[in-house]
Amino acid sequence: MTGPSADGLRDRTVIVTGGARGLGAAAARAAAAAGARVLLTDLREKEGRAVARELGGRARFVRHDVTSEDDWRAVADLASRTYGGVDGLVNNAGISGGSHALEEQTAEAFRRVVDIDLTGVFLGLRTVIPVMRAHGGGSVVNVSSAAGLMGLARTAGYGAAKWGVRGLTKIAAVELAADRIRVNSVHPGMIHTPMTAHLGIPDGEGGYPAAPLGRVGTPEEIARAVVFLLSDASSYVTGAELAVDGGWTTGPVLTTPFKEDRRCPST
Ligand code: NAD
Repeated sequence: MTGPSADGLRDRTVIVTGGARGLGAAAARAAAAAGARVLLTDLREKEGRAVARELGGRARFVRHDVTSEDDWRAVADLASRTYGGVDGLVNNAGISGGSHALEEQTAEAFRRVVDIDLTGVFLGLRTVIPVMRAHGGGSVVNVSSAAGLMGLARTAGYGAAKWGVRGLTKIAAVELAADRIRVNSVHPGMIHTPMTAHLGIPDGEGGYPAAPLGRVGTPEEIARAVVFLLSDASSYVTGAELAVDGGWTTGPVLTTPFKEDRRCPST
């Protein structure tokens, strides 16, 4: 299996939020491997600095709360001053908010997950778009979820936020196309990261039968899709929703085959 193109993001500046671990760290590594300068941001300073160190001169860490407009302004200013602009934005930071039946989720918990997972993406677009526009265009990748493509039980706040990210992506794609800014969403399925570690889903074939491909995904499999959408390899793709989920949202895996005698007589 091949990795991302070695120079598909050469000389591009890419901001990756939530880059300290999990999918964000994998996206930062893959973007740097494809030649980008990466500004990785997160609340987790120690882990974020460690990822930036590992990437050497290619990456820089900035502490950043995606719910803070002031923090977003500081990140956009830093990118402009240091790198002369921004070519790519990966709105990846997020929380799951835990698993609750709808009526057990408090309004406070619902607001918190929407604030981080949806308003954080809106603030990122609002703040970074002018910098991208001034730089001649760019590509935004919003990390939604399989939960933004289907009704996943016990995810009222998270699922609503991720459906919101999918919708916001399409609005931004239409509004910003004339500025040569492409905006797409990625919808990871069940992926092994610190966010999902507590679920105890086994690695490897057969570990995740809900997905037709039968296993959980890896952060690198998501990162390859992110790099594709950031790079010119996807130059005619905007407003798209790219599910990278082993087929989880495509349809249920049939556990009981249909019997011949239950078929419609005309078939
Ligand atoms: P993770 O918990 O491993 O990493 C998320 C990162 O976001 C953490 O480093 C955290 O500190 C950071 N973060 C949280 N709140 C923040 C804030 N307010 N400001 C800045 N940073 C903040 O999770 P992950 O699995 O890597 O998830 C990354 C993204 O992918 C999330 O948006 C998540 O919803 C989405 N996703 C993950 C999966 C999965 O199976 N892991 C599936 C679908 C979607």
